[in-house]
This record gives sequence, structure tokens and C-alpha cells, in this order.
Amino acid sequence: MPAADAGDFAAMGASAVLRIASSLERLGTETAFSVLARAKTLERSGVDVIHLEIGEPDFDTPAHVREAAYDAIAAGQTHYGPTAGLPELRAAAAAYLAETRSLTIEPESVLVATGAKPFLFFTVLAVCEPGDEVVYPDPGFPIYESAIRFAGAVPVPLPLREELDFAFDPDELAARIGSRTRLVILNSPQNPTGGAIGPEATAAAAELIGETDAWVLSDEVYWRLLYEGEHVSIATFPGMLERTVLLDGLSKTFAMTGWRCGFAHVPEPLVDPLVRFFTNTTSCVPPFVQLAGVAALTGPQDDVAAMVSEFRARRELVVDGLNAIDGISCRRPRGAFYAFPNVSGLRLGADELARRLLEEAGVALLAGSAFGRVGLDNLRISYANSQENLTRALDRIGDFVERLQGPPTGPA
Ligand code: PLP
Repeated sequence: MPAADAGDFAAMGASAVLRIASSLERLGTETAFSVLARAKTLERSGVDVIHLEIGEPDFDTPAHVREAAYDAIAAGQTHYGPTAGLPELRAAAAAYLAETRSLTIEPESVLVATGAKPFLFFTVLAVCEPGDEVVYPDPGFPIYESAIRFAGAVPVPLPLREELDFAFDPDELAARIGSRTRLVILNSPQNPTGGAIGPEATAAAAELIGETDAWVLSDEVYWRLLYEGEHVSIATFPGMLERTVLLDGLSKTFAMTGWRCGFAHVPEPLVDPLVRFFTNTTSCVPPFVQLAGVAALTGPQDDVAAMVSEFRARRELVVDGLNAIDGISCRRPRGAFYAFPNVSGLRLGADELARRLLEEAGVALLAGSAFGRVGLDNLRISYANSQENLTRALDRIGDFVERLQGPPTGPA
């Protein structure tokens, strides 16, 4: 074939179609980030926006954790480290997971990644063939469905029922599990509803899954933020640890979202596949971040306790405030820092309401549609903001709803 000359290349350039892989059509996103971007744009044009959209603690990372990072940087811990994680953090995380879940967990079965998110995505990719089924909560963290679809697997949503305080009905789980189920994703306490799976439902899930050859991904990143009842990991039920990726992290518990560090107990057959995914993508978590993680897990826990107690107070403020608004009803969430009020009593649908609350009232929050198909009548409110701002936001929502609903109708 004759070599192309410069003229050919110029002609090709003019008509070139630069393609994006069609698999990208199956990759979802997190609406929280796009709403945050819109809120920031409004702020730049002078609008005062109250942020209830983003899911991250508004507290500072504890001082002793930051100091551990400064010391580690000063000591030169700024190079590549082992992909599976520094031995110090793997050991600390194994001890932490073992003690807090009453399990025996060895450091070799603990991996460290750049947040909890890579574990979600790569576990799905590691276990699913196209056509395999994955059961996951709806409403749920949007990355679950995104990863399932991207892997070519079949998403099988498990409804979380508002009338059950956003727990699932074990019969509905039974109806969704079968020979094609490759993975079951559970999340407790839960994003976006704030619900938590109780011990009975967890036991029922363990029994049902135990009869299949499905893996389990138990997303427990909010487990320290539980205001009622006790956290019970599915990994503690007989035979479950061997098939469960027990996922935890630093982001939510220690207000370390920006540090990007998560860890998990990983069943032996999945250790090498996950390490290979991490080697192919991120190589390692920065060593100074991991050493800060060791300080977080092994150091004083007072900041966590103070944060939990403040979140508890905010939960009361938000739930009571929402329930005082005509047309809105809100279950009392048991954990995390989210409320998921039902707005079906209003004249606007949840999507339009969320949009107009941002544009017209300066309150940024998310519609339930960002989390699946079950919570379409709901809004997600993150109460990771000061009580003062939450009170202002509730006032704005109340005023907006009053204008929306107009004067009460009745006999003339
Ligand atoms: N799992 C759930 C349920 C979440 O809500 C989030 C973050 O919002 C994550 C995992 C990811 O956390 P990380 O910051 O550790 O990646």
C-alpha cells in the first residue's frame, strides 16, 4: 500500500470520526457531582446555596491523623508502595475489622485501595461474566448499577421498602436469587435512605445466599454512623466470610473523603484478581496516606464519637423539620447522614422539586431518581452540614413548598 502523504493526512483530519467505545454507554455516574457543579456555578454568580447534595462529612480530618501524614511525608514516605497496601495498614485494618466484627481476619486477606469505590467496581468486574445476575439495593449507591452494567452483567434490583424503614423483605430477596446470581451487594447503613439492615434480615440473607454459589459484597462504609440498634455484618454468619468482600474505609468514619483510602477483607480467590486490577490502574495508595490511615484506625477515637453525636442531633433536627412541612413525610433514618423524605404529597414530582429547590430556593439536594427506580417519590438530603445551615435550608424548603401549594383550598 503506498504511504500516505501529508495531504492525505490533512484530508483524513478534516473528516475524521474520533470514536468513543460503545461500552461507555453502559457506564453510569453519580448525580451528586453534577448537582454540586451546578450549585458551584450558581454560587459564582452570587447565589447563596446551602449544600445538602454531597455525601461527605463536613468535619475536619482528626488532627492526629493529619499529623501522621505530615510526619510520613517528612520521613520520605512519598514513593510507590506495594499494590496490596503497606503491611502496617493491612495489619491495622485486619485487627480493626476482626475486633469490630468479632471475626478472625489475617492481614493477608486485607487489601487497601484508593477509597472503597475501586473495591465495588473491580469486584463486580472480577466475578461477573456477561449475562450473570447481580442483586443490589434499589434505591442504592449509583456505582453498583453502573459497575454491573459495565461488566455486561444483569442488574437485579432488590427494592428497599419505605414502609419497612428502607429494609428489604427477605421474600423479595429469595425471589431474586437463583442459579444465575453471581453476586449479591448489600449496604448497611445505607446510602441514600439512611436505613439499616437489621440482624434478622441479615440472617435471612445469609441463609438464602448460603444455598447458592454467589459472592457477597457487603458495603459497610457507614457502619460507625449508626444511631439505633447494632451493626451486624453478613460476614459473621457461618460460611459467609469465605465468600464476602467486607468493605470498609476511612472516608466516612474519619472524615477522610479526599484522602482516597479504603480497605476490605477479600476472600482468598479474589485477592490476586483485585491486586491485578489495582496494579493496572492506580498502582498503590500513597504511603503517607496509608500511614495516616494507621493513625486513624489505631489512635484516639474521640473525634469519631463527637462526629457521631453531632450527626445524631442533626438527624433529629432534619427529620422533625421535614415532617413539620405539609405534604412531606420523612422516616427516621437509623444510620449514615442521609434523610430520604417522601414528597408525593406535593404538587411537583421529586425531580422537578429538586431542580427548582436549587434554582429558586438555593437548596442543593438530590432526587430519588439518582439512586434507582424505587425511590422516585423521594429526595435525598445529606445532613452533613451545620445545624445552622440545616435550619436555614429547612426554612427555605418550607417557604418554597408553601408558595408551591398555594393557599389551602376548601369550601368558599
Ligand atoms: N459506598 C457507599 C454506600 C457510599 O455512599 C460511598 C460514597 O459516597 C462509597 C461506598 C465510596 O466511598 P469512598 O470514598 O471510600 O470511595
